[in-house]
Amino acid sequence: MHKQKSAAFFLVLLFLATVMPVAAQKSSHVPTPSQVLGFEVGADRKLADYRQISAYFKALSAASDRVQIQVLGKTTLGEEMFMAVISTPENLRNKAKYQDIARKLADPRGLSKDQIDALASEGKAIFLLTCNIHSTEIGSSQMAMEWAYKLATAADPETLRRLNDVILLLVPSLNPDGETMVTEWYRKYLGTKYEGGAMPYLYHHYVGHDDNRDWYMLTQIETRNVNQAVYHEWFPQFWLDEHQMGYYGPRIYIPPNADPVAKLVNPLVHRGNNLVGAAMGWRLEEAGKSGVIYNYSFDAYWPGGTRNTGWWKNMYGVLTEVASARIATPMQISPTELQGGTKGLINYQQQINFPNPWPGGTWRLRDIMDYELLVSDAALETMSKYRRELLRGVARMAEEAIDSGVGGQWWTIPVDQHDAGAARHLVALMIEHGVEVRLSSDKQTFYIPSRQPYDRFVEEMMGIQRYPEVRPAPNSGILEPYDVAAWSLPLMMGVEAKKSWPTQDARTTSTVLHEVPLPEGSVEHTLKYPTVCTTEGNSAFILVNAVLKLGGKVSVDPAIRGADASECFTMTPHPQLDGLVKKLHLRLGSSAGLSSGKDAIAEYAIAKPVRVALYKSYIPSMDEGWTRFVLEQYGFDVKNIENKQMRAGNLNAAYDVVILPDSSREVIVDGRQGREGYQEELPPEYTGGIGKEGVRALKDFVDKGGTLITLARASEVAMGEEFNLPVRNALAGAGGRPLPASDFNIPGSLLRVYVDNQNPVGYGMPKEVAAFVDAPLAFQTSSPAPDTQRSVIAWYPDDAKDMLLSGYAHGAERLERKAAVVSFTRGKGKIVMFGFRVQHRAQTEGTFQMLFNAIEWAGME
Ligand SMILES: [Zn+2]
Repeated sequence: MHKQKSAAFFLVLLFLATVMPVAAQKSSHVPTPSQVLGFEVGADRKLADYRQISAYFKALSAASDRVQIQVLGKTTLGEEMFMAVISTPENLRNKAKYQDIARKLADPRGLSKDQIDALASEGKAIFLLTCNIHSTEIGSSQMAMEWAYKLATAADPETLRRLNDVILLLVPSLNPDGETMVTEWYRKYLGTKYEGGAMPYLYHHYVGHDDNRDWYMLTQIETRNVNQAVYHEWFPQFWLDEHQMGYYGPRIYIPPNADPVAKLVNPLVHRGNNLVGAAMGWRLEEAGKSGVIYNYSFDAYWPGGTRNTGWWKNMYGVLTEVASARIATPMQISPTELQGGTKGLINYQQQINFPNPWPGGTWRLRDIMDYELLVSDAALETMSKYRRELLRGVARMAEEAIDSGVGGQWWTIPVDQHDAGAARHLVALMIEHGVEVRLSSDKQTFYIPSRQPYDRFVEEMMGIQRYPEVRPAPNSGILEPYDVAAWSLPLMMGVEAKKSWPTQDARTTSTVLHEVPLPEGSVEHTLKYPTVCTTEGNSAFILVNAVLKLGGKVSVDPAIRGADASECFTMTPHPQLDGLVKKLHLRLGSSAGLSSGKDAIAEYAIAKPVRVALYKSYIPSMDEGWTRFVLEQYGFDVKNIENKQMRAGNLNAAYDVVILPDSSREVIVDGRQGREGYQEELPPEYTGGIGKEGVRALKDFVDKGGTLITLARASEVAMGEEFNLPVRNALAGAGGRPLPASDFNIPGSLLRVYVDNQNPVGYGMPKEVAAFVDAPLAFQTSSPAPDTQRSVIAWYPDDAKDMLLSGYAHGAERLERKAAVVSFTRGKGKIVMFGFRVQHRAQTEGTFQMLFNAIEWAGME
């Protein structure tokens, strides 16, 4: 008894120690960012890193009942990613109710007009503000702390009214790992001549700046964390994403966007965005801030970035871009250095979209944060003032999407197909996006019904793109796309999908899927050698790589084909195989043609795990990161190799394959972005490229039996005089420079190519695939010397009119009959050159297999 009493007594003490002080704090002192961090946030040369930002928000939420922390998940490098939820204490207590209202307005099926009006009147505007996805664009991550403090402590009726109308979801950094990398780099070189300069590595472990190109494919953990909170939990009506741009142009970009405009986005989205943009412009001008521009550079066409993806899901979404300083170091900008030069501002001058040009002078972190505070607050104000209208608008857009799909055809995706794994992945991706997907009662067909709130998103992602040719003036060239011009998922992923009228079963007895049913992993034990085929998906390679690591042998005998001529791997039995196969949901022993009796392992064997070196330059290449990401996902053993190791040579000792990711020859060989001009200096240990020694080392590597794989522009290295191969870029302009856009412009489009699937690199590929093309590059080969074999593995059609599958292609006739993938072999040495983007941003699943094949080919005896 005595013991129990004392336990209870301690519990009371514990309660007092934990709960009481918090309650007391909440009513007394709310700390400023500077008080918690011990320095003035926003001061010159001062930055808070992510852990400090996180510490501040924790202190703030402990002290203020207007601020809560919601953990979004872990980052790539294991940091905790969070957002602050900011509103009145009462709204926060009722957040489940307001989430529910937001969800109903986003999918108003079954609601009457009166019910929608009532919900719009009762609901709160949910406003998502995301900061610092691009880690060097660091102002917003610092601003977030200041703004949160202001909102937590404001006592004026205007701010209190806004907080009562709006629930703010504030993400101080969409890329916490990168925020820390940039801050650490900045601190390290403070006070040196490299202060505020470029970093020699990507600011995201895998994808660097492309973290804002991932919002329809959802490959990265940070993207997925936020996607979950947005489309499954909060359903914000408005998304503001704050960025920074270059040094020498306007001071801030606000909406309206520039042309072109995506056909499928509801115009109400732009009307809502422009309402916010007008308030932003007004507030900036009122505060005496000059250099505000709209209708500039950033188009309304491309769906790959944060808030853009939301447009197709009936969400208002705004981008702002503030001019940068050198991270936290002020810049002095002479009026003569100010320049336009891009869409919406050709010359730096007063225009109606730029009525008050910034005159030049000092520009610092504090300015960036001040501009951002004003636009954030203007957005909050607009959300509050137009709360009901904006909420009604979201429901109205959803209803229009639903109605436009009534009686329309549905997307149908066969469960069994050439790459069933990719089909399942596409379906899982749609579900992750909040799209309704159904499975037929015989479980043979996935359906995406047309009558649903995200129908426009479905059409954009499943259909094909035709880039609008907007010309700013008669006889002028077209407006260039901001990013790529194609994102048709079935084409990119190599998935068979078509539209058809919904059957009786589809409409009545099919079931809504909340996750994709995965096949049971199974092993057919009667077979002498277990076999896995790529009808299972690219994940067959995960198994192959695992078996090789276990010391097994794998054969890729081209005579052994699975259903639909897929590639099959025959492997030596291993006790761990059953477990692996179950974990990967693969089926072993499903291929045809295995009873030939021939010892399949003897020939075409990959004898050991292939050791892959992936070149990493000090001018960061996002393609390097994406390649590393894709290869790691599929179980390849990849190590980065840098200039010094490359120059040292003797590469065969440690590697079987060297991959040069997509970068120009100047970047790889010289460590320079272009051939001439001023380039910012990096610390000496990060300067230069692989140099002539590195190129010689690569040639030596191939001569001694290694395999060199070059991705897109990196093929320029293997086409250099050192290698002396009978191949050149058929699309090189005068002096070897890239062709001008007026002659050739394929800015990231899907083009038809034919594949020789009797070649090891083409094994298991369909005869025709969609290749992602984004540069003037195609191969013109000629007959090699007798000791060398040349193979054209993929090539473009004879006629340009058969080429474009999705996107935009100007000058495509230059690709007629040109090679897209080629290989050269001499002895055991191999060079494989990919002209298109075979694993572009981890999106082009339909062509991954060619890269994987090229790597495994290196391991064949
Ligand atoms: Zn940015």
